[in-house]
Amino acid sequence: MIAVLKQGTNDKQIENLSSWLKGQGLDVHISKGHDHTIIGLVGDTSKIDEDLLLGLEMVETVKRISEPFKSANRKFHPDDSVIKVGNTSVGGVDFAIMAGPCSVESEEQVMAIAKAVKAAGATMLRGGAFKPRTSPYDFQGLKADGIEILLKAKAETGLPIVTEIMNANHLSMFEDVDVIQVGARNMQNFELLKELGRTQKPILLKRGLANTLKELLMSAEYIMAGGNENVILCERGIRTFETYTRNTLDISAVPMLKELTHLPVIIDPSHATGVAKLVKPMAMAAAAAGAHGLMIEVHNDPAHALCDGPQSLTPEAFADVTKSVKRVLDAVKEI
Ligand code: PEP
Ligand code: MN
Repeated sequence: MIAVLKQGTNDKQIENLSSWLKGQGLDVHISKGHDHTIIGLVGDTSKIDEDLLLGLEMVETVKRISEPFKSANRKFHPDDSVIKVGNTSVGGVDFAIMAGPCSVESEEQVMAIAKAVKAAGATMLRGGAFKPRTSPYDFQGLKADGIEILLKAKAETGLPIVTEIMNANHLSMFEDVDVIQVGARNMQNFELLKELGRTQKPILLKRGLANTLKELLMSAEYIMAGGNENVILCERGIRTFETYTRNTLDISAVPMLKELTHLPVIIDPSHATGVAKLVKPMAMAAAAAGAHGLMIEVHNDPAHALCDGPQSLTPEAFADVTKSVKRVLDAVKEI
Protein backbone atom coordinates (compact mmCIF):
# COMPACT_ATOMS: atom_id res chain seq x y z
CA MET A 1 0.00 0.00 0.00
CA ILE A 2 1.21 3.52 -0.69
CA ALA A 3 0.06 6.86 0.65
CA VAL A 4 0.94 9.87 -1.48
CA LEU A 5 1.27 12.92 0.75
CA LYS A 6 0.16 16.40 -0.17
CA GLN A 7 2.74 18.95 -1.23
CA GLY A 8 4.01 20.93 1.71
CA THR A 9 3.70 18.13 4.28
CA ASN A 10 6.49 18.77 6.77
CA ASP A 11 9.01 16.34 8.26
CA LYS A 12 7.34 16.32 11.66
CA GLN A 13 3.99 15.24 10.15
CA ILE A 14 5.73 12.55 8.07
CA GLU A 15 7.52 11.27 11.17
CA ASN A 16 4.31 11.16 13.22
CA LEU A 17 2.46 9.26 10.51
CA SER A 18 5.28 6.79 9.95
CA SER A 19 5.71 6.04 13.63
CA TRP A 20 1.96 5.39 13.91
CA LEU A 21 2.17 3.03 10.92
CA LYS A 22 5.21 1.27 12.38
CA GLY A 23 3.17 0.83 15.54
CA GLN A 24 0.70 -1.15 13.41
CA GLY A 25 3.50 -3.63 12.72
CA LEU A 26 4.35 -2.39 9.22
CA ASP A 27 7.66 -1.52 7.59
CA VAL A 28 7.59 2.01 6.34
CA HIS A 29 9.48 3.31 3.29
CA ILE A 30 9.66 7.01 2.74
CA SER A 31 10.46 8.25 -0.73
CA LYS A 32 10.83 11.99 -1.15
CA GLY A 33 10.41 12.92 -4.78
CA HIS A 34 10.43 16.29 -6.52
CA ASP A 35 6.80 17.12 -5.82
CA HIS A 36 5.45 14.50 -3.49
CA THR A 37 6.51 12.32 -0.63
CA ILE A 38 5.34 8.72 -0.87
CA ILE A 39 4.96 6.48 2.15
CA GLY A 40 5.19 2.83 1.19
CA LEU A 41 3.85 0.22 3.59
CA VAL A 42 5.16 -3.34 3.61
CA GLY A 43 3.72 -6.16 5.67
CA ASP A 44 0.18 -7.17 6.47
CA THR A 45 -1.70 -4.06 5.35
CA SER A 46 -5.08 -5.81 5.45
CA LYS A 47 -5.78 -4.27 8.85
CA ILE A 48 -5.12 -0.73 7.64
CA ASP A 49 -8.27 1.22 7.00
CA GLU A 50 -7.77 3.06 3.70
CA ASP A 51 -10.52 5.57 4.48
CA LEU A 52 -8.91 6.42 7.79
CA LEU A 53 -5.62 7.19 6.04
CA LEU A 54 -7.35 9.11 3.29
CA GLY A 55 -9.15 11.17 5.92
CA LEU A 56 -5.86 12.55 7.20
CA GLU A 57 -5.23 16.16 6.20
CA MET A 58 -1.78 15.43 4.76
CA VAL A 59 -2.77 12.41 2.62
CA GLU A 60 -3.63 12.97 -1.04
CA THR A 61 -4.23 9.41 -2.25
CA VAL A 62 -3.97 5.85 -0.97
CA LYS A 63 -3.38 2.90 -3.30
CA ARG A 64 -2.99 -0.81 -2.71
CA ILE A 65 -0.05 -2.32 -4.59
CA SER A 66 -1.24 -5.44 -6.33
CA GLU A 67 2.20 -6.73 -7.33
CA PRO A 68 3.78 -9.16 -4.84
CA PHE A 69 7.03 -7.20 -4.87
CA LYS A 70 6.72 -4.10 -2.72
CA SER A 71 10.09 -2.58 -1.79
CA ALA A 72 11.39 -3.12 -5.33
CA ASN A 73 8.25 -1.58 -6.82
CA ARG A 74 8.58 1.62 -8.81
CA LYS A 75 5.27 2.74 -7.23
CA PHE A 76 7.01 2.85 -3.83
CA HIS A 77 9.94 4.82 -5.12
CA PRO A 78 9.22 6.68 -8.36
CA ASP A 79 12.80 7.93 -8.84
CA ASP A 80 15.56 5.59 -9.99
CA SER A 81 17.63 4.17 -7.14
CA VAL A 82 21.30 4.99 -7.40
CA ILE A 83 23.52 2.46 -5.64
CA LYS A 84 26.80 3.86 -4.40
CA VAL A 85 29.77 1.56 -4.98
CA GLY A 86 33.09 2.94 -3.71
CA ASN A 87 33.94 6.00 -5.74
CA THR A 88 31.33 5.22 -8.41
CA SER A 89 27.63 4.38 -8.59
CA VAL A 90 25.09 2.34 -10.52
CA GLY A 91 21.66 3.57 -11.55
CA GLY A 92 20.04 6.83 -12.59
CA VAL A 93 22.07 8.61 -15.25
CA ASP A 94 25.31 6.79 -14.52
CA PHE A 95 26.43 4.02 -16.86
CA ALA A 96 28.42 1.33 -15.07
CA ILE A 97 30.84 -0.96 -16.89
CA MET A 98 31.98 -4.01 -14.94
CA ALA A 99 34.68 -5.91 -16.76
CA GLY A 100 37.23 -8.60 -16.10
CA PRO A 101 37.87 -12.31 -16.44
CA CYS A 102 35.26 -14.96 -15.85
CA SER A 103 37.50 -16.43 -13.19
CA VAL A 104 40.48 -15.15 -11.29
CA GLU A 105 43.38 -17.30 -12.52
CA SER A 106 46.52 -15.57 -11.22
CA GLU A 107 47.70 -12.26 -9.85
CA GLU A 108 49.52 -11.38 -13.09
CA GLN A 109 46.42 -12.12 -15.16
CA VAL A 110 44.04 -10.07 -13.00
CA MET A 111 46.45 -7.16 -12.62
CA ALA A 112 47.06 -6.89 -16.38
CA ILE A 113 43.35 -7.14 -17.21
CA ALA A 114 42.37 -4.68 -14.46
CA LYS A 115 44.76 -2.04 -15.80
CA ALA A 116 43.61 -2.62 -19.38
CA VAL A 117 39.89 -2.47 -18.65
CA LYS A 118 40.32 0.63 -16.51
CA ALA A 119 42.16 2.36 -19.35
CA ALA A 120 39.30 1.40 -21.67
CA GLY A 121 36.64 2.94 -19.43
CA ALA A 122 35.53 0.17 -17.05
CA THR A 123 34.17 1.50 -13.76
CA MET A 124 34.50 -1.80 -11.86
CA LEU A 125 36.57 -4.96 -12.00
CA ARG A 126 34.78 -8.32 -12.12
CA GLY A 127 36.29 -11.75 -11.55
CA GLY A 128 35.04 -15.02 -10.13
CA ALA A 129 36.84 -16.48 -7.13
CA PHE A 130 34.14 -19.07 -6.43
CA LYS A 131 32.94 -20.53 -9.72
CA PRO A 132 29.63 -22.34 -10.22
CA ARG A 133 30.66 -24.88 -12.88
CA THR A 134 28.36 -27.40 -14.52
CA SER A 135 31.00 -30.10 -14.09
CA PRO A 136 32.57 -30.82 -10.70
CA TYR A 137 35.78 -31.69 -12.58
CA ASP A 138 36.16 -28.19 -14.05
CA PHE A 139 38.19 -25.41 -12.41
CA GLN A 140 36.23 -24.28 -9.35
CA GLY A 141 38.05 -20.98 -8.76
CA LEU A 142 40.88 -19.86 -6.48
CA LYS A 143 38.38 -19.14 -3.68
CA ALA A 144 39.82 -17.02 -0.81
CA ASP A 145 43.11 -16.56 -2.71
CA GLY A 146 41.10 -15.27 -5.66
CA ILE A 147 39.46 -12.62 -3.50
CA GLU A 148 42.89 -11.58 -2.21
CA ILE A 149 44.07 -11.13 -5.79
CA LEU A 150 41.03 -9.01 -6.64
CA LEU A 151 41.70 -6.85 -3.57
CA LYS A 152 45.29 -6.30 -4.73
CA ALA A 153 44.02 -5.23 -8.15
CA LYS A 154 41.57 -2.89 -6.45
CA ALA A 155 44.39 -1.36 -4.40
CA GLU A 156 46.49 -0.94 -7.53
CA THR A 157 43.83 0.48 -9.87
CA GLY A 158 41.21 1.98 -7.55
CA LEU A 159 38.50 -0.05 -9.34
CA PRO A 160 35.78 -1.41 -7.03
CA ILE A 161 35.47 -5.19 -7.32
CA VAL A 162 32.52 -7.47 -8.09
CA THR A 163 32.69 -11.16 -7.29
CA GLU A 164 30.27 -14.04 -6.84
CA ILE A 165 29.22 -15.64 -3.56
CA MET A 166 27.90 -19.21 -3.59
CA ASN A 167 27.54 -19.92 0.10
CA ALA A 168 26.39 -17.67 2.93
CA ASN A 169 29.07 -19.23 5.16
CA HIS A 170 31.68 -17.49 3.00
CA LEU A 171 30.35 -14.01 3.77
CA SER A 172 33.24 -13.07 6.06
CA MET A 173 35.62 -13.39 3.08
CA PHE A 174 33.59 -10.74 1.23
CA GLU A 175 34.07 -7.96 3.78
CA ASP A 176 36.18 -5.80 1.45
CA VAL A 177 34.38 -6.79 -1.74
CA ASP A 178 32.43 -3.83 -3.13
CA VAL A 179 29.62 -5.67 -4.93
CA ILE A 180 28.60 -9.22 -4.11
CA GLN A 181 27.29 -11.10 -7.13
CA VAL A 182 24.53 -13.68 -6.84
CA GLY A 183 24.84 -15.81 -9.96
CA ALA A 184 22.03 -17.07 -12.15
CA ARG A 185 22.16 -20.49 -10.50
CA ASN A 186 21.60 -19.02 -7.06
CA MET A 187 18.92 -16.48 -7.90
CA GLN A 188 16.41 -18.50 -5.93
CA ASN A 189 18.71 -19.61 -3.13
CA PHE A 190 16.43 -17.91 -0.66
CA GLU A 191 18.56 -18.60 2.44
CA LEU A 192 21.53 -16.94 0.72
CA LEU A 193 19.35 -13.99 -0.32
CA LYS A 194 18.06 -13.57 3.25
CA GLU A 195 21.61 -13.58 4.59
CA LEU A 196 22.65 -10.92 2.06
CA GLY A 197 19.60 -8.92 3.10
CA ARG A 198 21.16 -8.61 6.55
CA THR A 199 24.21 -6.83 5.11
CA GLN A 200 24.38 -3.40 3.55
CA LYS A 201 26.59 -4.54 0.64
CA PRO A 202 25.52 -3.75 -2.92
CA ILE A 203 24.25 -7.02 -4.42
CA LEU A 204 24.36 -7.80 -8.14
CA LEU A 205 21.46 -10.19 -8.64
CA LYS A 206 21.57 -12.10 -11.91
CA ARG A 207 18.43 -13.47 -13.52
CA GLY A 208 18.14 -17.24 -13.35
CA LEU A 209 18.44 -19.36 -16.49
CA ALA A 210 14.71 -20.02 -16.57
CA ASN A 211 13.21 -17.37 -14.36
CA THR A 212 10.59 -14.75 -15.11
CA LEU A 213 11.09 -11.08 -14.40
CA LYS A 214 8.55 -11.37 -11.60
CA GLU A 215 10.65 -14.11 -10.00
CA LEU A 216 13.75 -11.95 -10.37
CA LEU A 217 11.96 -9.09 -8.63
CA MET A 218 10.74 -11.40 -5.88
CA SER A 219 14.35 -12.47 -5.29
CA ALA A 220 15.35 -8.81 -5.06
CA GLU A 221 12.49 -8.43 -2.59
CA TYR A 222 14.02 -11.15 -0.38
CA ILE A 223 17.20 -9.07 -0.08
CA MET A 224 15.33 -5.81 0.42
CA ALA A 225 12.91 -7.26 2.98
CA GLY A 226 15.92 -7.91 5.21
CA GLY A 227 16.85 -4.25 5.09
CA ASN A 228 19.37 -4.16 2.25
CA GLU A 229 18.03 -1.93 -0.51
CA ASN A 230 21.27 -1.95 -2.51
CA VAL A 231 20.26 -4.33 -5.25
CA ILE A 232 21.37 -4.17 -8.89
CA LEU A 233 19.53 -6.44 -11.35
CA CYS A 234 21.29 -8.17 -14.22
CA GLU A 235 19.77 -9.72 -17.32
CA ARG A 236 22.22 -12.36 -18.57
CA GLY A 237 20.16 -14.30 -21.07
CA ILE A 238 17.65 -17.07 -20.54
CA ARG A 239 17.38 -20.62 -21.83
CA THR A 240 15.42 -21.04 -25.02
CA PHE A 241 15.41 -23.64 -27.81
CA GLU A 242 18.10 -21.65 -29.69
CA THR A 243 21.49 -23.34 -29.83
CA TYR A 244 23.70 -20.94 -31.83
CA THR A 245 23.90 -18.74 -28.74
CA ARG A 246 24.58 -19.96 -25.20
CA ASN A 247 21.42 -18.21 -23.97
CA THR A 248 18.93 -15.77 -25.49
CA LEU A 249 19.34 -12.16 -24.43
CA ASP A 250 16.00 -10.77 -23.34
CA ILE A 251 16.64 -7.14 -24.18
CA SER A 252 13.02 -6.24 -23.47
CA ALA A 253 13.78 -7.04 -19.83
CA VAL A 254 15.45 -3.63 -19.61
CA PRO A 255 12.48 -1.36 -20.38
CA MET A 256 10.09 -3.78 -18.67
CA LEU A 257 12.08 -3.88 -15.44
CA LYS A 258 12.63 -0.13 -15.55
CA GLU A 259 8.88 0.32 -15.57
CA LEU A 260 8.30 -2.16 -12.75
CA THR A 261 11.17 -1.24 -10.45
CA HIS A 262 13.38 1.64 -9.36
CA LEU A 263 16.39 -0.68 -9.06
CA PRO A 264 19.22 -0.36 -11.61
CA VAL A 265 19.22 -2.88 -14.46
CA ILE A 266 22.38 -3.96 -16.25
CA ILE A 267 23.05 -6.41 -19.09
CA ASP A 268 25.67 -9.15 -19.31
CA PRO A 269 26.10 -9.76 -23.04
CA SER A 270 28.92 -12.27 -22.45
CA HIS A 271 26.86 -14.97 -20.73
CA ALA A 272 23.79 -13.98 -22.75
CA THR A 273 25.43 -14.94 -26.03
CA GLY A 274 28.43 -17.11 -25.19
CA VAL A 275 30.07 -15.78 -28.36
CA ALA A 276 32.76 -13.07 -28.21
CA LYS A 277 31.82 -11.46 -31.53
CA LEU A 278 28.20 -11.00 -30.41
CA VAL A 279 29.19 -9.07 -27.29
CA LYS A 280 29.67 -5.74 -29.07
CA PRO A 281 26.30 -5.58 -30.88
CA MET A 282 24.47 -6.76 -27.74
CA ALA A 283 26.33 -4.25 -25.55
CA MET A 284 25.30 -1.50 -27.96
CA ALA A 285 21.71 -2.78 -27.91
CA ALA A 286 21.74 -2.73 -24.11
CA ALA A 287 22.88 0.88 -24.08
CA ALA A 288 20.22 1.79 -26.65
CA ALA A 289 17.51 0.03 -24.63
CA GLY A 290 18.29 2.10 -21.55
CA ALA A 291 20.33 -0.29 -19.42
CA HIS A 292 22.20 1.27 -16.49
CA GLY A 293 25.34 -0.63 -17.29
CA LEU A 294 27.10 -3.72 -18.59
CA MET A 295 29.03 -6.66 -17.26
CA ILE A 296 31.55 -7.97 -19.80
CA GLU A 297 34.10 -10.79 -19.61
CA VAL A 298 37.60 -9.80 -20.68
CA HIS A 299 40.61 -12.10 -20.82
CA ASN A 300 44.22 -11.43 -21.85
CA ASP A 301 44.37 -14.82 -23.60
CA PRO A 302 40.80 -16.03 -24.28
CA ALA A 303 41.96 -19.19 -26.05
CA HIS A 304 43.58 -20.41 -22.83
CA ALA A 305 41.03 -19.09 -20.32
CA LEU A 306 40.16 -21.59 -17.58
CA CYS A 307 36.50 -20.62 -17.92
CA ASP A 308 34.31 -19.02 -20.59
CA GLY A 309 37.08 -18.30 -23.11
CA PRO A 310 34.77 -18.39 -26.19
CA GLN A 311 32.75 -15.45 -24.88
CA SER A 312 35.68 -13.45 -23.50
CA LEU A 313 36.95 -10.33 -25.24
CA THR A 314 40.58 -9.37 -25.50
CA PRO A 315 41.38 -6.03 -23.84
CA GLU A 316 41.62 -4.48 -27.34
CA ALA A 317 38.20 -5.76 -28.36
CA PHE A 318 36.80 -4.52 -25.04
CA ALA A 319 38.19 -1.02 -25.69
CA ASP A 320 36.44 -1.06 -29.07
CA VAL A 321 33.16 -2.04 -27.35
CA THR A 322 33.34 0.74 -24.76
CA LYS A 323 33.99 3.29 -27.54
CA SER A 324 30.93 2.12 -29.48
CA VAL A 325 28.77 1.96 -26.36
CA LYS A 326 29.72 5.53 -25.52
CA ARG A 327 28.63 6.63 -29.00
CA VAL A 328 25.28 4.86 -28.54
CA LEU A 329 24.79 6.48 -25.12
CA ASP A 330 25.52 9.92 -26.59
CA ALA A 331 23.09 9.29 -29.44
CA VAL A 332 20.35 8.03 -27.09
CA LYS A 333 20.77 11.08 -24.86
CA GLU A 334 19.79 13.29 -27.78
CA ILE A 335 16.54 11.41 -28.47
C1 PEP B 1 29.63 -15.16 -14.11
O1 PEP B 1 29.30 -13.96 -14.08
O2 PEP B 1 30.80 -15.55 -14.23
C2 PEP B 1 28.57 -16.19 -14.05
C3 PEP B 1 28.83 -17.42 -13.63
O3 PEP B 1 27.40 -15.73 -14.51
P1 PEP B 1 25.93 -16.40 -14.49
O4 PEP B 1 25.60 -16.63 -13.05
O5 PEP B 1 25.08 -15.34 -15.14
O6 PEP B 1 26.00 -17.65 -15.30
MN1 MN C 1 31.64 -16.59 -16.91
